Amino acid sequence: MSTCLGIESTAHTFGAAVVSEDGRIMSDVKDIYVPPTGSGIHPREAARHHVSEAPRVLRKALVEAGISIDDLSCISYSAGPGLGPALRVGAVAARAISSYYGKPLVPVHHAIGHLELGRLLTGARRPVALLISGGHTTVLIPKRRRWRVFGETLDITVGQLIDQFGRHLGLSSPSGPKIEGLASTGSTLLELPYTVRGNDLSFSGMLTAAKRLLARGHRQEDVAYSIQETAFAMLCEVAERALAFTGYHELMVVGGVAANSRLRAMLKAAARRQDAKLELVPPRFSGDCGAQIAWPGIMYYKGGVRVRPVDANVIQRWRLDVVDVPWIE
Ligand code: AMP
Ligand code: MG
Repeated sequence: MSTCLGIESTAHTFGAAVVSEDGRIMSDVKDIYVPPTGSGIHPREAARHHVSEAPRVLRKALVEAGISIDDLSCISYSAGPGLGPALRVGAVAARAISSYYGKPLVPVHHAIGHLELGRLLTGARRPVALLISGGHTTVLIPKRRRWRVFGETLDITVGQLIDQFGRHLGLSSPSGPKIEGLASTGSTLLELPYTVRGNDLSFSGMLTAAKRLLARGHRQEDVAYSIQETAFAMLCEVAERALAFTGYHELMVVGGVAANSRLRAMLKAAARRQDAKLELVPPRFSGDCGAQIAWPGIMYYKGGVRVRPVDANVIQRWRLDVVDVPWIE
């Protein structure tokens, strides 16, 4: 049975996991860099964190999987998109292990990892996918060897909207759970820009308007509540239109923002209206993790994809709809 060690290091998380070719997650270990309160992620500090935690995380992933490096079939790493200094830590680790032990090396697109791990864990076959994370806000459809973009944000992601609003309130990033807590005690729906253009979305005007509402003396709870109601309604509109357009019967949601219970409830209603099933990735695997890199890693490996260690670069900006995913029909 082939096995792959996957290494994730695009942003906050340094993760390592071992996954077998039949989709068994044999281990998944991670350590998350937490920036100082009130500030965002600093790429160099995240990289410093990853360098210091990598040996422990990698060792633990192998021990928990009960496997030695010699017995692995291949090594995969998140090649992008992400923060350069953070990405390079994972790539260097993968390159070193690959060279030293003579193991094939496989680069993986981080977002393809979220989507394919989502399909593995939910069992969704041909879903409309909503990828909502710190780095992405995208509605996608798997078709003819690619994940095709149906709609996406034209500026900041919904995760950035939430985290930047949180930072404005002096909260540490990522502030999703704290904003969700605040919003749950809000009650007045304040008007914010609702911006859907075709199938694309925009959130930066909402962030500016939300800060203005605070400056005018509105309660934090009500502004947080209004952000959630407005932004999530926009996501539901685009997801629902994609379901109606494709006639697909599964709505799969991946990425850290999917942890939000108000959003889950709204998406459930949207899916029901379109006669579709809502498929949610278990929270443990909805954020960044090694398994999202190990699983596509083994699929690519079986399809013959490899890079030489000397060519194992990182790509900070990398659109996911240019990446071949040969096992998509
Ligand atoms: P990821 O990039 O997939 O690790 O997702 C991280 C993003 O998810 C950050 O922007 C978080 O603020 C956001 N997030 C996490 N939990 C929640 C939540 N309960 N509600 C809203 N956003 C959340
Ligand atoms: Mg991610």
